[in-house]
Amino acid sequence: MQKNLKEERVGILGKGQLGIMLGQAAAKLGVPVWFYEPSTQVLSEGDTWQGTEKILATGKDAWDRFSTSCSVYTYESEHVPHDFLLPLSAQHKLNPPFKAVQETGHRILEKQCFKDLRIPTAPWKPVTDQPSFIAAVTAIGLPAILKTATQGYDGKGQQWLRSQADVDAAKIESGREYVLEGVIHFELEFSVIGARDAKGNEEFYPIGENLHEKGILRTTLVPASLPDKVTEAARGFLSEILQHYNYVGVMALECFYSNGNLYANELAPRVHNSGHWSIEGSNCSQFEQHIRAITGRPLVAIDLVSQNVGMVNCLGVLPPDTVRADWPKGLCFYYDYHKGPRPNGGHEPGRKLGHVTVVSDDRDMVKNELARLRIDCKT
Ligand code: ATP
Ligand code: MG
Repeated sequence: MQKNLKEERVGILGKGQLGIMLGQAAAKLGVPVWFYEPSTQVLSEGDTWQGTEKILATGKDAWDRFSTSCSVYTYESEHVPHDFLLPLSAQHKLNPPFKAVQETGHRILEKQCFKDLRIPTAPWKPVTDQPSFIAAVTAIGLPAILKTATQGYDGKGQQWLRSQADVDAAKIESGREYVLEGVIHFELEFSVIGARDAKGNEEFYPIGENLHEKGILRTTLVPASLPDKVTEAARGFLSEILQHYNYVGVMALECFYSNGNLYANELAPRVHNSGHWSIEGSNCSQFEQHIRAITGRPLVAIDLVSQNVGMVNCLGVLPPDTVRADWPKGLCFYYDYHKGPRPNGGHEPGRKLGHVTVVSDDRDMVKNELARLRIDCKT
């Protein structure tokens, strides 16, 4: 179906790095974009990274214009307050759908979804107060992780319980919900990323193996060293979840692989940090695929542009020009997210400030570069 581009406009909630990368992908497709940033109540268009940003409205005007002027809306994070998402969902213009963001943004609902679909996870129990916490520790044993049900990211909101002393010291805030989860001693952590369009077509990216440090993604290596049957099972689980939510857009499923078994960890109802490699490493980035899905354009069947791709996050610091000058030309692709310092001064050590993608047919070369870049891109 031919689109009338004059009437088409994608509204993106959130203008962090994911929002901007979605906007860049839309621009590549010739689709106009407006951004609404809930934390500052600013409506803008154009790219802050390229210096073309134009502020269109602020305060109540910004929301009024944004919420009435786009043909479709999407979001960069499951932490966008539901007050913003619900009116857009009521207009039938929000994708991925509200139910997906509501449930994947709440660990108890998310784990229940895995359970309903018979997708294996670490053992878990909901925790709402001290007695349910003690009962959960008794049922699951140690080690275990106490995770807040909402607002967790990059390992924030998690308490690792390794001993009775940790259990005694655990903080359960009244009125707050948690999940207590058994620890999986995994050999490999990985994420499977896929897209679904409104007609039910699905496309999946090659799986990436992920290395986390202190709960924060450090590197992704594609393709993951996994048996074919595990890759198929992971895609099968993600496919079931996409169908379950009648999902439109890109979704990521984070998993553990341990002793021949696969365990689902969590879902992201959006483009995912472990898929940034797809910009240079595949024929269609996860950002473009997401915009395609939500605007009714055909999905692209995904191919790698080289046999291996790696990605390193720049955490807390960006590599200086002098260091970058030594990186192999044409193989390393560097992104600076142009993040300003926090109100109290600088950047905390784990803050994601940029990333580097490495593309090569030689897997050892990608691995060696990742090892080197990890040193260059960290405080
Ligand atoms: P994200 O930034 O991906 O949203 P998050 O803070 O929401 O992360 P998780 O993905 O649940 O939280 O946990 C962060 C990391 O902690 C995981 O990637 C994994 O390395 C480790 N982890 C979490 N749960 C478990 C578990 N049950 N067993 C072993 N390791 C775990
Ligand atoms: Mg995670």
